[in-house]
Amino acid sequence: MSTIAQLQRLARKHGTPLFVVDHDVLRRNYTEFRRRLPRVQAYYAVKANPDPTVVRTLYEAGASFDVASLPEFRIVHENIRRMPPRKRQEWIWDKIIYANPIKDNRTLQYLNRYKPLVTYDNLTEIEKIRRHAPRAGLILRLNVPNTGSVVELSSKFGAAAGEAVDLIERAFRAGLVVEGVSFHVGSQCTNFQNYVQALEIAAEVFREAWARGYTQMRVLDIGGGFPAPYDRHVRPFRELAKILNAEFGRLFPPEIEILAEPGRFLVATAATLVVEIIGKALRDGKPCYYVNDGVYGTFSGVLFDHCRYPLKAFRSGPAELSTVFGPTCDALDVISNAEELPRNLKLGDLLYSRNVGAYSTASATNFNGMGPAKIIAVNR
Ligand SMILES: *Cc1c(COP(=O)(O)O)cnc(C)c1O
Repeated sequence: MSTIAQLQRLARKHGTPLFVVDHDVLRRNYTEFRRRLPRVQAYYAVKANPDPTVVRTLYEAGASFDVASLPEFRIVHENIRRMPPRKRQEWIWDKIIYANPIKDNRTLQYLNRYKPLVTYDNLTEIEKIRRHAPRAGLILRLNVPNTGSVVELSSKFGAAAGEAVDLIERAFRAGLVVEGVSFHVGSQCTNFQNYVQALEIAAEVFREAWARGYTQMRVLDIGGGFPAPYDRHVRPFRELAKILNAEFGRLFPPEIEILAEPGRFLVATAATLVVEIIGKALRDGKPCYYVNDGVYGTFSGVLFDHCRYPLKAFRSGPAELSTVFGPTCDALDVISNAEELPRNLKLGDLLYSRNVGAYSTASATNFNGMGPAKIIAVNR
């Protein structure tokens, strides 16, 4: 992780707002994921941070990719196409899964030549895939409990357990091939029981599908949701891994190929944002600092990701409760109403926020024309 001195030096050199991605941390997170879940191939969910250098580093480390749109597919495809192949692969889905259950027709037509692996969860989608991407392999997305996850997804996606095997049968009858099932327990899932329940639902669907003769189904995709250690209350990944490994052994024979789509877990801790104080005021007796990046920019996760990003100053001193505002003209642009910051910070002072690698630059807007933070890589 970049040291304080390093961050200050980089901010002096490159200006602010500055988004510093530490590629050692990316590699370390990937290695930890693989080491603790040896049966699982990791398909990095590009939507968490689509920076091309992140994609390349994770590819070199051994990752495959989960994309959710055609532009994301292209980011991955263009970046890994020029890199040396890891091994001979006939199907692109050894490297890329298209895991958005809803795809427009043009995307399907474009993907068809690559024999992609795509998810689906309803009849309309089967018909679309049959017409526009008949070479695709299918993965049925299941609806599973998202209880207690910070970002909930179960109200939008997933087939109910009771209709799952019928949807598998309908796809085969349409001449398509269903390779397996997937689920997503919700992002920043700190309730590990969600995974246990989801695995049980998935195992039951496999059993029933095999019983109906669809024995070629071999892929179990356990999605994302693996929590980043934002604070001490998040139970460590090794505890989740232990639970998962035990359930894999109990529920899934060794010939089942297991893959996962970690987004946040791989990138959240790899980036730090440095911002600069560009204005200050006392409002209702409380110090307020205006900084040059906000919730319409890199701190977009405050709105879209239900995430808090503690801010720290580079100098210490007696602290007081302060508000930190973003730079736009909108009153919604509040990064924090309660930061313990040193008293009487000055214009031009820098603040930094750790663990901003996921769902930050990815969902930043160009509101007020303020543009994105500069992204730089260290330890690449
Ligand atoms: C967003 C998403 C992911 C990544 O989720 P994280 O919580 O960031 O790990 C994985 N799979 C699918 C289908 C997603 O929509």
